[in-house]
Amino acid sequence: MKNLLARKNTAYLTFAALNFWYFIGRTFLPKLTWRRAVNEHIVYLTFDDGPHPEITTWVMEELEKVGANGTFFVVGNNAVNHPEIVSELRARKHGISNHTFHHVKGWRMNDQEYLKEIEACDEVIGDPGFFRPPFGQINFKSIPVIRQKKEIIMWDVLSKDYLPRLNRKRALARIKRQTRPGSIIVFHDSEKAEANLKAILPAYLEFLKDEGYHMKVL
Ligand SMILES: [Zn+2]
Repeated sequence: MKNLLARKNTAYLTFAALNFWYFIGRTFLPKLTWRRAVNEHIVYLTFDDGPHPEITTWVMEELEKVGANGTFFVVGNNAVNHPEIVSELRARKHGISNHTFHHVKGWRMNDQEYLKEIEACDEVIGDPGFFRPPFGQINFKSIPVIRQKKEIIMWDVLSKDYLPRLNRKRALARIKRQTRPGSIIVFHDSEKAEANLKAILPAYLEFLKDEGYHMKVL
């Protein structure tokens, strides 16, 4: 029981920290992109942490059903292991972008190490012009260097599909409510998020289609 409580508290703290960081980040880091300013009914679906042979393929099929395109922030190491999925993403005109080579935490390393991680991912996928920091933890000192070549993409709508005990019904209602033109929405094509992703994404895509949104690559 004690263990369970401790685990629950840790999860809650991580959660609170992430929300707090989101608030601070949006307020004090305007050089990062949190939402696009658009005049049209466009949203940007993004999928982090792949490619994964089954899950990424499933996502591509779901997107195709509603004529949507998405941007996949891939982990370089996963792209090395699954080049056929990267090719399939390209063939289907999805965006492939940089999420570091080993999915590293930017607050735990120096800027030189962090930049090397980004470069190593670029070497696998080509320089895509976009970068998303894993865990939302951007290495602050690296920001000016990254921005010379890339737009740093954060988000304004987070599905939280990575949470093991996600209330899926509430999560779906929340992301629908938060979506507006120019929104950048985060999902994960990873094993950790698979069950939540599969429960939420199809209904969310139907919602976007019904609302008349175009789902474009960044
Ligand atoms: Zn990630």
